[in-house]
Amino acid sequence: MRKITRRKFNTTLVKGLGGSALTAHMPLACAMGSKQDKKKLGIALVGLGSYSTYQLAPALLDTQHCYLAGIVTGSPDKEKIWGSKYNIPEGNIYNYDNFDAIKDNKEIDVVYVVLPNSMHADFSIRAAKAGKHVICEKPMAMNVEECDAIIKACSENNVKLGIGYRLHSEPYTQEVKRFVREKTFGNVRYISADAGYYSGSNPEQWRLNKKLSGGGALMNMGVYAIQSVIYGTGENPISVSAQEFSTRPEYFKGTDETITAQFEFKSGVVGTIMTSHNISANRLHAKCERGWFELDPASTYIPLAGRTSKGELNFKQESQQKLQMDDFAKHVLFDAPNLVPGEMGKRDMMIVEAIYKSISEGGKKQALSFESNFGFGG
Ligand code: NAD
Repeated sequence: MRKITRRKFNTTLVKGLGGSALTAHMPLACAMGSKQDKKKLGIALVGLGSYSTYQLAPALLDTQHCYLAGIVTGSPDKEKIWGSKYNIPEGNIYNYDNFDAIKDNKEIDVVYVVLPNSMHADFSIRAAKAGKHVICEKPMAMNVEECDAIIKACSENNVKLGIGYRLHSEPYTQEVKRFVREKTFGNVRYISADAGYYSGSNPEQWRLNKKLSGGGALMNMGVYAIQSVIYGTGENPISVSAQEFSTRPEYFKGTDETITAQFEFKSGVVGTIMTSHNISANRLHAKCERGWFELDPASTYIPLAGRTSKGELNFKQESQQKLQMDDFAKHVLFDAPNLVPGEMGKRDMMIVEAIYKSISEGGKKQALSFESNFGFGG
């Protein structure tokens, strides 16, 4: 009873805040803090940028199986603002230098790495060595080698690892996976997926700095399109060929602007993706033996929308991040399936590397092979 009341209270407060920027003068102290239900896992967010601020932290006020227990930040001013807003005890606030001391903190069960891509491996590995379960944001790392190092560290330290692929917990995406699994429209014959947005205001941002991002549109948005063609077919691809397009080289100085890629699948399905930092697009479309299905948008936060040759899809809209973090917590607490294992993040990085290789070789086809389908197309 007490739990239900607290959750309702938190939800009301979040709605009231309306996703506005964090300010110190509206503490949620009475609702949150160290006296959490012991059954809930304590999550520490590492990196308090826009995704943590506007999506993850608000979602953690409404999760059933985990809560915001700690923060790791390089900005002393954020320590005060977040500490006050979310009633985080001083002992659960870390910076990048003293982060490793988190190993002695019993209130932190999970470390969620929400930093620029170049920092994912370092903090995921340090978290695993501290004995904490890890959620690592997408793209998993800068390259396959780093993915392997993260997987190894988590395995050696006996902690769970999940990637921040929120869509696997989301009902429209789950419905697509059901269509494929149950062959609702027969076999898929052609799948296409687009994921991109127009970037125009800040060429200095870390996403356009190869040292921090590892690559441009493909690393940032392309992984969504890659994921779409895989769960939209239920298969890993067996080859990829790719092309790069550049129309604004003065803005995209060191990272890819637009990439297209074509996939072959063992069953004969043909797949294609487009990813861009220059074109707004967010869509998954599959042509099947007896009809079609589509999500558009397919990977924004809220709301997704979908339709099929039989009609509109209509699912309850909920925070995808809330569903995702609760699914990971259920994996840790109750041994529920891990919907987004580290191996899935590594598979996608293998595909990313093959796409970049194909482009560097003038579009030459690259063979792909994977050990697992990760529980039905990821
Ligand atoms: P952001 O730029 O808003 O925040 C980045 C954070 O990292 C900031 O707090 C910044 O202070 C900190 N930081 C530390 N060292 C830095 C450095 N050298 N340069 C820049 N920032 C530095 O980014 P974001 O949108 O919060 O993205 C963070 C991660 O989350 C990325 O890996 C991104 O791909 C991922 N992300 C995932 C989703 C999703 O839907 N799963 C959505 C957005 C972002």
